[in-house]
Amino acid sequence: MAAVKSKDTTPEMVVRRLVHGMGYRYRLHVASLPGNPDLVLPRHRKVIFVSGCFWHRHGCGRCRIPAARRRYWVGKLERNAARDKRVQRALRRQGWGVMVVWECQTQRAKLDRLQNRLDRFLTP
Ligand SMILES: [Zn+2]
Repeated sequence: MAAVKSKDTTPEMVVRRLVHGMGYRYRLHVASLPGNPDLVLPRHRKVIFVSGCFWHRHGCGRCRIPAARRRYWVGKLERNAARDKRVQRALRRQGWGVMVVWECQTQRAKLDRLQNRLDRFLTP
């Protein structure tokens, strides 16, 4: 039960629900695209990544690097961030619009703002 509940409230589920509620249809995790984007809107040629703040170096309060094995973490997370940049460049070169939604932006209190951002991004 607990697993089901937490899955429903993951940042990715929050974004899916919003985008779906706005009347858009999307595909999930399209492996043929760089970076395997979380949501893909082929007709609009737009992709959305839902990114964990820690793993993708958002720079918000959720990103504090553990003191233990600090150098390991810094190196690992910087590689993640560099790969994200490469992936986004590759997608843009192929004509895709790219939006990143951060985990911390999917909190209930921030959903209005997130929906506005999604609306601006997705409106042709
Ligand atoms: Zn964040």
